[in-house]
Amino acid sequence: MNVCVIGTGFVGVVSAAVYSSFGNSVIGLDIDPNKIEKLKQGIVPFYEPGLKHLLLEQQAHGNLKFTTVYKEAISSAEIIIVAVGTPSSKEGKVELKYVHSAAESLAPSLAKGAIIVVKSTVPPGTLDSFKKVVESHAPHQDFHMASVPEFLKEGTAVEDTLHPDRVVIGAYNEEVFTKLTELHAPLNAPVVKLSPESAQMAKYAANAYLATRITFINQIADLCEQNAADVNDVIHAMGFDKRIGHHYWYPGFGYGGSCFPKDVKELAAYSRSVGLNDNLLNHLDRLNEERIPKLLEKYSKQVGGWKDKKVAVLGLAFKPHTDDMREAPSIKVIPWLLEQGANVVGYDPKSLEVVPYFIKEHPNASYTDDVANAVKDADVIMILIEWPEIIQYDFASARNTNKEAVDY
Ligand code: NAD
Repeated sequence: MNVCVIGTGFVGVVSAAVYSSFGNSVIGLDIDPNKIEKLKQGIVPFYEPGLKHLLLEQQAHGNLKFTTVYKEAISSAEIIIVAVGTPSSKEGKVELKYVHSAAESLAPSLAKGAIIVVKSTVPPGTLDSFKKVVESHAPHQDFHMASVPEFLKEGTAVEDTLHPDRVVIGAYNEEVFTKLTELHAPLNAPVVKLSPESAQMAKYAANAYLATRITFINQIADLCEQNAADVNDVIHAMGFDKRIGHHYWYPGFGYGGSCFPKDVKELAAYSRSVGLNDNLLNHLDRLNEERIPKLLEKYSKQVGGWKDKKVAVLGLAFKPHTDDMREAPSIKVIPWLLEQGANVVGYDPKSLEVVPYFIKEHPNASYTDDVANAVKDADVIMILIEWPEIIQYDFASARNTNKEAVDY
């Protein structure tokens, strides 16, 4: 099939490379010329394990191309996958401006019978507004719409896309279901067919549920700290219940990243818009926003203030195996420490290219790509993210024996 993927970010590049690996002819399209120039040269503009190899392989086969020109990408595409960003507005509502701008740009070149698939995370009702924008700019009305939300995780995105737990297809007619099932057939994954609205709600609900687990276990951890319980032992014991499981428990700084915060905020804003102001989703968002400030206040008391202390902050991305810093805890923690008078050294195995944007200007902040440098003579070591390089580091070897060691 001729496939066009609009938006070559995390989701778009992975999807384009995977669809082309099935023998489809795929063209990735973005409005960012720098990104497209890099991709044309086989350079992935972000860190994602396994992606560079797949990209180069597909480019060498001639199945995968990139462009900034809508006409070139759209005019022969049977399937158009929209994977542009859907960030939060200040009020927490999802911003659909990139989605609608893609609709306006693709419409004039649309081939007859094309299927437009919205893969970006969008709320119910978006296909209607998208369709209206296309209809007012397209030379004909012979096109279909569908919603195929994406469930990949950054850090394991290639693996997740090649071996998904399920493919969710939201469409209005059998012809579209058949074509999209055919597109995803090489994955050998269960296909869930439903309405576009159910598909979109399923994506939001999945992210909100995972965010709830993180907030829930943080609350249990807070209670464990009031007694002699260890939250990790509690998780171990609890996880044997098959309804609960041992997977996906991360007590810590709360959820971050490019998806959970914005998707919970959108569901919370949507709840408020229908009069459900006091539901779980609104509390979830508030509890997560409060998490880092509360922990920092608690640590302040434990370390006796931060003035002139050397603090090693380890793990700057929002989770291991990615260089994505969107809603990473470090973005909140480092400025706060600097304000309290600390000297901060940041360390991350992959985020170095993006780190400078928030610590380079400050005389008391620096960063390093060597964990030993970061922790040398540190008064406080703060582990924000569990990169293997960090949790496997021999901290005992770095200990200054003149100082008392305290674990929190
Ligand atoms: P991203 O910000 O990494 O990439 C979006 C890309 O779209 C950018 O390269 C941008 O230049 C491009 N773009 C914006 N407007 C455009 C337009 N009009 N025409 C062409 N290109 C345009 O975003 P992402 O992380 O890949 O997320 C994309 C969508 O997928 C979001 O809705 C997100 O919620 C969802 N999603 C993301 C993940 C994830 O882990 N990142 C997982 C599942 C779902």
